[in-house]
Amino acid sequence: MSANDSTVKRQPVLLTVKSVQDLGPRYRRICFTSPELAHYPPCSHGAHIKIMLAHGDQSEPVLPAMTESGPKWASAEDKPLLRTFSVRALRREVGEIDIDFALHGDIGPASRFALAARPGDKLGISPPGGPFPMLKPASQYFLAGDLTALPAIAAMLEDMPADSRGYVALQVPDHTDLQDLVCPEGVKIEWFFGQPNQVQPLIDQFCLQLENDKHHVTDSYFWLGGEEQIVVGLRRYIRRELDVDRSQVYAIPYWRFGNDEDSYHARRHEVIDNKE
Ligand SMILES: Cc1cc2nc3c(=O)[nH]c(=O)nc-3n(C[C@H](O)[C@H](O)[C@H](O)COP(=O)(O)OP(=O)(O)OC[C@H]3O[C@@H](n4cnc5c(N)ncnc54)[C@H](O)[C@@H]3O)c2cc1C
Repeated sequence: MSANDSTVKRQPVLLTVKSVQDLGPRYRRICFTSPELAHYPPCSHGAHIKIMLAHGDQSEPVLPAMTESGPKWASAEDKPLLRTFSVRALRREVGEIDIDFALHGDIGPASRFALAARPGDKLGISPPGGPFPMLKPASQYFLAGDLTALPAIAAMLEDMPADSRGYVALQVPDHTDLQDLVCPEGVKIEWFFGQPNQVQPLIDQFCLQLENDKHHVTDSYFWLGGEEQIVVGLRRYIRRELDVDRSQVYAIPYWRFGNDEDSYHARRHEVIDNKE
């Protein structure tokens, strides 16, 4: 089925938790199901979505009506809590979608939902966003991120052509968070351990790797996600020191330590729009 298929609906979908699987102490895969997923837009694995979470006394989130000017709720109180996540895997043929949640306690509604999730629980999702494709064709790939970017990175690695070459730097809290990732032989994965504010070893090693591969930089593609410090630190080096064109760099801060997603919204856009 193609993206132009007339049966594809660009509407939010109400999902039901089918199963919950712990992939580590701080990482939980939730498989959701809905017959509506048969008509969900085809998308790259790793694409971003908004999840819609119930609040207060609601037993399930209220989905919006889709209007020409965007989603609309009958009243402001109906509006669910919104958070941004990634499509880890989509199986439209069986009406299933996997979303991987980094668990960071019950201080945020998304993490709280994931910690308590049981089969039968409900959550809404928006249609998928870009980029499409997730990675532009390139001779080498350089990817970096933390637990929140791991779902997108793992999905992109699985979908890479078998002869791809590249380097991936991943920061997780400690060795219990390590995962076996499926990836092409020519892609090296390096893990770093530390809290979100301890990113300098990852940044130094990533830059060293680029220094050694400098002759490939002009036809490489860079993908950076995760806590703001990783994304901004690496983007600065790639853009300023290596003079890589913006079109070759995806750099999206996924979250910022100390800010919830709502309070981070405006700053995130300033960071993204910064041309450095
Ligand atoms: C394009 C995109 C794709 C994303 N994909 C995923 C994904 O697939 N899986 C995923 O887990 N996250 C993903 N994220 C990150 C996720 O949106 C944020 O971590 C979000 O803040 C989580 O919402 P929450 O309700 O749990 O916490 P919030 O209510 O937003 O925040 C509450 C508090 O927790 C802190 N916090 C938020 N996230 C973390 C964290 N990971 N570790 C420690 N403290 C944290 C905040 O700084 C704040 O102090 C993605 C973000 C973007 C922009």
